[in-house]
Amino acid sequence: MKDSVANKITYDVIIVGGGITGASILYLLSNYSDLKNVLLIEKYGDLASLNSNASNNAQTLHTGDIETNYTLEHSKQVKEASERIIRYTDSLELKERNSIIKNCQKMVLAVDDEEINILNKNYDSGLGKLYPGLKKIGKKQLEKLEPNVVKKRDPNEKVFALLSDNGHMVDFGRLTHSFVQNSKKHKILKTNVLLNTKVLSIRGNDGKYIVKTNKDTHHGKFVIFASGTYSLYFAKSLGYDKNLSILSVGGGFYTAPRVLRGKVYRVQIGGIPFAAIHGDPDFNNKNIVRFGPTVTIPPLLERHHLETFADYIKSFDFDLPTMISLKRILLNKDIRRIISRNMLYGVPVIGKPYFLKMEAARIVPSLKSENLKFNNNLGGIRPQIIDENKKSLLFGAGKIKEEGLIFNITPSPGASSCLQSALEDVVTVTRHLNKNFNVDRFEKELGPIESKNILNML
Ligand SMILES: Cc1cc2nc3c(=O)[nH]c(=O)nc-3n(C[C@H](O)[C@H](O)[C@H](O)COP(=O)(O)OP(=O)(O)OC[C@H]3O[C@@H](n4cnc5c(N)ncnc54)[C@H](O)[C@@H]3O)c2cc1C
Repeated sequence: MKDSVANKITYDVIIVGGGITGASILYLLSNYSDLKNVLLIEKYGDLASLNSNASNNAQTLHTGDIETNYTLEHSKQVKEASERIIRYTDSLELKERNSIIKNCQKMVLAVDDEEINILNKNYDSGLGKLYPGLKKIGKKQLEKLEPNVVKKRDPNEKVFALLSDNGHMVDFGRLTHSFVQNSKKHKILKTNVLLNTKVLSIRGNDGKYIVKTNKDTHHGKFVIFASGTYSLYFAKSLGYDKNLSILSVGGGFYTAPRVLRGKVYRVQIGGIPFAAIHGDPDFNNKNIVRFGPTVTIPPLLERHHLETFADYIKSFDFDLPTMISLKRILLNKDIRRIISRNMLYGVPVIGKPYFLKMEAARIVPSLKSENLKFNNNLGGIRPQIIDENKKSLLFGAGKIKEEGLIFNITPSPGASSCLQSALEDVVTVTRHLNKNFNVDRFEKELGPIESKNILNML
């Protein structure tokens, strides 16, 4: 392919992927570094077309207080990360802010002794201190604050919750657009955003990288893959991280009328890296509550996109260590139970009543089958990372760093943690390119840096 004149530029950084991860990196580079030119390449016709789109995720700003599968350490990290989103949106004009983020009540609900014990233990062993706004509430307060959780519930069933009235729902798609818009305003950094442009391959050449797309070829000193489910695919294409694989965990949503005032999460069994089914009022439709995400294991990198099957096979690599790891993961009785239950949710006729009984009615007992509808247009794929050395699923996001390269793999809560992940990338890039990162202004505007990992890099 012949290079056009414009492509003779060697970009300081090329970002592959226009979801929230790529957009937040662009935003931080443009506002807090002295880089000169950055290119962002997105294969679809709009930013945030996949997991970052409001239709495809649960719209929760995860802060670590009601996520029972997090350790206290992980909660602290997620808290630091998510607070940056609040600071960013608070800096916007009110109209823009309100189109991106809304305050809402949120809780994690326990419905038997075992679950109640888990919540009490978590609260007493540090959560209560870390989140002073988190309150223990019983049936009476629940009746007042989230009446449908109690209405028509078996009187013998105990209910208890940890509640925060300072939760947030976020349209991460609009937030993605806001980051890009506010990057373009900046004068020092020349940003170039290419839509409808698919990266086909990358190769190193003389300390730089050559990125080939379906339209052209671009040169960069540093390349960051913010390509969601595809980041590991590109890492493997360059021979990196043979010891990791992707387990695609699909997530879909049922919708129901607005039976909840706020977000109601359920207790998740420890060690499972994705949330139990929860109920969430929809950000963009005040008449709807979503129940989900369900759990499926499609051999695809993009939901409903069958053409991504071949790329999934490359990301998964069906070699012996991967298969041994997968077997070990599937032998975990909790994971097996979740997957087999969720497989039944997809079976015609029996799927919906079974979902109602096992999930939705455990949150809203009065909900009826005719009020629930599976919406095939909602949902995405969480790229959960299989570590072949540990033979287990890793928790949260993954970052692979090589000379002049970063690959971001972003299952939940990747959207809530985007600015923290971007911070790490921007510090790495500016150090690598001998450029400056304005730490003082970053901390003033987006909050103090407490993460040891990042402090050690500064
Ligand atoms: C069902 C579900 C519920 C979730 N709920 C939450 C939640 O409530 N809160 C939360 O914080 N997180 C949640 N998450 C996780 C969150 O959605 C993701 O972590 C986040 O959106 C990842 O953003 P991203 O930019 O890394 O990936 P994506 O949004 O998937 O963006 C990747 C981009 O890369 C582009 N791309 C890929 N390959 C190429 C190529 N070859 N060339 C050019 N472009 C390419 C894609 O087109 C895409 O636009 C949820 C995820 C799912 C699936």
